[in-house]
Amino acid sequence: MPAHHTAPTLSIVIPMFNEEAVLPLLVERLRPIADGLDTAYEVVAVDDGSSDATAVILERERRTWPQLRIVRLRANSGHQAAISAGLARARGDYIVTLDADLQDPPEVIAEMLRLAREDGVDVVYGVRNDRSTDTAFKRGTARLFYKTMRRLGNIHAPEDAGDFRLMSRATVDAINTLPEHNRVLRFVVPALGFPSATVGYMREVRAAGTTKYPLAKMIRLSVDSVTGFSLAPLRFATWLGLLGGLAALGVLLYAVIARFLGHALPGWTSTVVIVAAVGAVQLLALGILGEYVGRMYSAMQSRPTYFIAHDSLSSEETAP
Ligand code: UDP
Ligand code: MG
Repeated sequence: MPAHHTAPTLSIVIPMFNEEAVLPLLVERLRPIADGLDTAYEVVAVDDGSSDATAVILERERRTWPQLRIVRLRANSGHQAAISAGLARARGDYIVTLDADLQDPPEVIAEMLRLAREDGVDVVYGVRNDRSTDTAFKRGTARLFYKTMRRLGNIHAPEDAGDFRLMSRATVDAINTLPEHNRVLRFVVPALGFPSATVGYMREVRAAGTTKYPLAKMIRLSVDSVTGFSLAPLRFATWLGLLGGLAALGVLLYAVIARFLGHALPGWTSTVVIVAAVGAVQLLALGILGEYVGRMYSAMQSRPTYFIAHDSLSSEETAP
């Protein structure tokens, strides 16, 4: 049986959006590395609704590279969604996610695989030793981003870990059970709590083409990250509503008292009372609504509240 018909041990998931410029370079560099691994593999190329020649190049490469699988999304759905699609379809016992632009050196995959097997960890994070190839703006915003996530979401993602990582089948199965939308995997994975290790690497410059992450998509990712792991912004709005409501009640009270002490112009009291009362009711109601919206949001994410690592009762049947 040819190697590609045996179930792959390793899946290499690569999201790509309009990567025609870099794709030939990627294949040229990745293929000998993958072929040189001591394990059967598949490459799951997730074409995230590209409008350039990405699909054509992939089809062409597949003719001579049977381990290349193409998963094409109907529309451009974004980096994280593309990775999620690849994870849902990957068949390997281990799954690596890798950017298409060769910023994540594929040479590191062998080291990740070795670490996972020898140390028995479920996740190996690729950690950038040196981000000097990224712009100062990108590095600055990234630092702020990870710091915010630690404070707000209590999520301890390894610093400078992006989406270059290896995960075990168990980890990916756990990710695949999460029904939430817009999940940001680099924070979801550490939150699952599987045993992990890190491997350092030099972040290279994009080998060809231009970034597919304009500022708007970066902001989107940040908003998804914060709202995905924290109700803090909503809570803040709730408190603002409650405080505003109380302040409006105070103004109302003051207007009434001023009226009886004779300090008020004719007509002033009724105007202020109406405005303050309406404001108070609206803001207080908004605060209460915020609490319920928060609860609905948590329920809707339906994130399991825990994942079992081990149960001695069933260990005979489920031990890997
Ligand atoms: N990507 C994608 N869909 C998108 C945007 C990006 O699949 O909507 C892929 C892109 O092709 C690349 C990876 O996500 O493989 C990271 O994107 P990029 O290298 O442009 O981001 P940067 O390194 O500039 O942050
Ligand atoms: Mg890149």
